[in-house]
Amino acid sequence: MDGGYYSPDIIEKGKENEIELHFTNLNGKKPQKHLSVTRFEIDESTGIITKCPEGIAPTHAGITKSQIVAHFPLNVCDTCKHRKDCYCKRQKKDYVVRINLKAIESAKQRQIVEQDQKENTSMRAAIEGTNSALKRGYELDKLKVRGIVKCSIVVGFKVLAHNFKKFANYIIQKSKELIPQDKGESLPILAQ
Ligand code: SF4
Repeated sequence: MDGGYYSPDIIEKGKENEIELHFTNLNGKKPQKHLSVTRFEIDESTGIITKCPEGIAPTHAGITKSQIVAHFPLNVCDTCKHRKDCYCKRQKKDYVVRINLKAIESAKQRQIVEQDQKENTSMRAAIEGTNSALKRGYELDKLKVRGIVKCSIVVGFKVLAHNFKKFANYIIQKSKELIPQDKGESLPILAQ
């Protein structure tokens, strides 16, 4: 579905109904400064960080209603090459990483979108063409009836007509390919 429909609540609703949602693109800016949160290893069952992008296990970690929290030793983060881009914040005794749960879900979706972009956009492109053809050729956007039942019936007939037309075109095209084309013959011209 279109990225405009993305929200963590929609993802949750999909999961409840055993539907895996794919988005063609996501709105909003990509996080620029931080390492992607998907670089942190997170235990699926507990939702707790088990390793940071550098492969370091936290000294202690936890999860609240809105964020996950993990602590890392001062000496490790101080010398890490990712420190400026990392979510960690220096405290007196250690570094602490706090990541919003919604940010994790968005980052996962963004990763799926980037991995599947070709497949998703091509699937979307196909259906967008059909929607457009139905609007242009069958006035799908100007229904003369109201109410879910009447609209469903009329839309159903329009889709049926569109499919018949496409099938007829396909048959005509195939039959043209099967009929051998008359290429004509040339005869020698005899000059006296
Ligand atoms: S800065 Fe610390 S928490 Fe962040 S990647 Fe490096 S070692 Fe891991």
